[in-house]
Amino acid sequence: MKAALVHAFKQPLEIQTVDKPTLTPGSVLVEIAACGVCHTDLHACHGDWPVKPKLPLIPGHEGVGTVVAKAQDVTHLALGDRVGVPWLHSACGHCEHCLKGDENLCPQQQNSGYSVDGGYAQFTKADANYVVKIPDNVPFVEAAPLFCAGVTTYKALKVSGAKPGDWVSIVGVGGLGHLAIQYAKAMGLNVVAVDSGEEKLALARDLGADMVVDYTQQDPAQTIQTELGGVQAIVCTAVSKSAFTSSFHSVKRGGVCVLVGLPPEEMPIPIFDTVLKGVSVVGSIVGTRQDLIECLQFAAQGKVKAIIETKPLEAINEVFEQMLNSEINGRIVLTLDE
Ligand code: NAD
Ligand code: ZN
Ligand code: ZN
Repeated sequence: MKAALVHAFKQPLEIQTVDKPTLTPGSVLVEIAACGVCHTDLHACHGDWPVKPKLPLIPGHEGVGTVVAKAQDVTHLALGDRVGVPWLHSACGHCEHCLKGDENLCPQQQNSGYSVDGGYAQFTKADANYVVKIPDNVPFVEAAPLFCAGVTTYKALKVSGAKPGDWVSIVGVGGLGHLAIQYAKAMGLNVVAVDSGEEKLALARDLGADMVVDYTQQDPAQTIQTELGGVQAIVCTAVSKSAFTSSFHSVKRGGVCVLVGLPPEEMPIPIFDTVLKGVSVVGSIVGTRQDLIECLQFAAQGKVKAIIETKPLEAINEVFEQMLNSEINGRIVLTLDE
């Protein structure tokens, strides 16, 4: 099968022919139709984080496609089912976190396109218990980004505890942020979106943002404090330390700062302000299968729609270049079924 492989960090990916994965108990073989390109894939290929991915690696954790083979013990899926293979490739199912329904926190988890091969390939092997079915009326290319960008921002908004009528800020209007705006609006929240450049800010407005701030023109925290008196919650998806610092200062007293983006840096948090203003700073990592089912329903009901551009697998190195330069509007989705 054709796949894009990382052999060494910070080197271009290579398009190669490799063996199709073989089934093991509890697994299914998914013929990939499309796979979104998440900024996490770029972090993986650069070896940015303290925990490194396996090498060689087939990246991709927004892979969607059709079940074409299944192990004998898999009874709840049928050949032909349309599924997605998310970042949470598998979890142990019996630790404290799994038992509480927080499987995204399982210390034994495997991650698609990181600790195991992912969706930048014609076929991928998935744990049958962790794939999620795609609603019939959501096309593959529009479903793909929901398997990470969608579920992550949907979950982050839930974690923020924001309620209808509250103001939230979405920092970074990229793959994650453009979906965050839509989920926030669908949840009845008021949205201020922060990014740079007319194109991204126009996209944010089109998707329903009530206010936009260009961080290269205005200080976001100061603007948000002056115009809104601070936001109740902020979801920071930007790959930038300064965006995190600014996010902290954008929330009002009692506000919640949800960290989602993963720049490989530390964030300075002032103890005095955190304590006196009762600010919460909380991390949020992808979502559970139930979060994924819910977030896909928003798309099935037409409340959320990923803005996508499709490209062939062979374009992956140019896509990464565009991503590094913040030149992508919405999500780029690699197609594999041609
Ligand atoms: P992306 O490249 O599509 O979008 C990032 C956006 O941030 C771009 O639009 C860019 O212009 C904007 N940006 C950069 N600096 C900014 C600043 N100072 N202020 C405001 N905006 C700024 O990336 P993505 O795929 O949306 O991923 C974003 C981050 O989220 C990555 O670090 C990724 O690894 C991480 N991520 C985390 C989770 C999780 O579960 N927590 C899941 C998926 C991705
Ligand atoms: Zn991702
Ligand atoms: Zn577990």
